[in-house]
Amino acid sequence: MESLFSRIDSKREDLVSFTQDLVRIPSINPPGEDYTKCAEFLGTRLAKSGFSLLYERAKDTPGDSDRYPRNNIIARFEGKHAGPCVHFNSHLDVVVPGKGWTVDPFEGLVQDGKIYGRGTCDMKGGLSASVIAMEAILEEGIDFPGAIEISGTVDEETGGYGGVAFLAEKGFFSKPRVDHVIIPEPLNVDRVCLGHRGAWWAEVETFGRIAHGSMPFLGDSAIRHMSAFLELIEQRLFPALDKKKTIMPVVPEGARRSTLNLQSIHGGEDESFSGMPSPLVPDSCRLTMDRRFLIEEDIIEVKAEVTDLLEELADSRPNFRYQIHDIMEFLPTMTDAEAPVVKAVSAAILDILGKTPDHVISPGTYDQKHIARIGHLHDCIAYGPGILELAHQPDEYIVIDDMVTAAKVMAASTLKLLGVNL
Ligand SMILES: [Zn+2]
Repeated sequence: MESLFSRIDSKREDLVSFTQDLVRIPSINPPGEDYTKCAEFLGTRLAKSGFSLLYERAKDTPGDSDRYPRNNIIARFEGKHAGPCVHFNSHLDVVVPGKGWTVDPFEGLVQDGKIYGRGTCDMKGGLSASVIAMEAILEEGIDFPGAIEISGTVDEETGGYGGVAFLAEKGFFSKPRVDHVIIPEPLNVDRVCLGHRGAWWAEVETFGRIAHGSMPFLGDSAIRHMSAFLELIEQRLFPALDKKKTIMPVVPEGARRSTLNLQSIHGGEDESFSGMPSPLVPDSCRLTMDRRFLIEEDIIEVKAEVTDLLEELADSRPNFRYQIHDIMEFLPTMTDAEAPVVKAVSAAILDILGKTPDHVISPGTYDQKHIARIGHLHDCIAYGPGILELAHQPDEYIVIDDMVTAAKVMAASTLKLLGVNL
């Protein structure tokens, strides 16, 4: 193992420059910019290391078009004889940089032992660490059974329909092709992430009747109806959600309960005009809600908590009319702490970092849901070098030492899962 680890140490420069090169491909989603370029860049690199490649375009999934094709790559290296397959899955897409950056988000600036840029932490740094780890195993000439796979998939940031969900439907994340999956999402170098909370997004619309703003009594304000609903949410739903306890070890601690974000609200006239607004009673108000839920909760009940409040208003408030529709929903998932991949990665962290890793749950969802629900593969975790709180932030960065350490953990865990003793 010493020789493997010193080989990883010697690849530090390569690890940095490969991460920089990935960051310089601004694979922003939405809309899905440069997916093909990013997938091919990864593919070209892995082909040189002896992997065989498959490119899979997720035709007709949300956002797919000839201008923005949903291109995924799966690379596989076969061992000398039959055995299990260890798969590293990373998403290639990044979110928009947003405001507040003090450095160029797509330059890949290296400073004070960190690489800065959109996607360094979430999750091109983790992808690079997995690539370097697997290449080090191959360069060492270690004879292993089974296979190693690395995939670069799209659209994780927007639900993963054209990425892992699409590939899982085609059997890429099921036995017998794959046995163990590690997703290098940024959950910190010394923690093992067993899964994530569930998510339900919905849009609620209240209705009114348009009238002249100087005579609001002739109309019926959809915004006032919505505010009655919001009042019930404040008085009843938020306190109820705060009380829900979970066995899931969600981090950060504040997310160790049910949460609700009122994501956007719009009532009345369209705001895209320029000039003076016109005096109107609003006949529509729309609210989008982002509810995160726990393994102890049933999605039917999660939805009922909201619709019960709406029904109560429909019964008690004159002219209260509403509509609700689902935008998306994902169930919570949590891998057993005794699962092989959890034990292998935990043991490697203990060996390399000298500490027993915390087992955590991510507050937000990631592609593990598709691997569990569609692929029916439950030996899956997230383990990666980034600092969770930096994801999606301005001046996002990754610590280079953490990437090197994570690469060692990934290499050692892979060998353990393949049954190789060095
Ligand atoms: Zn991510």
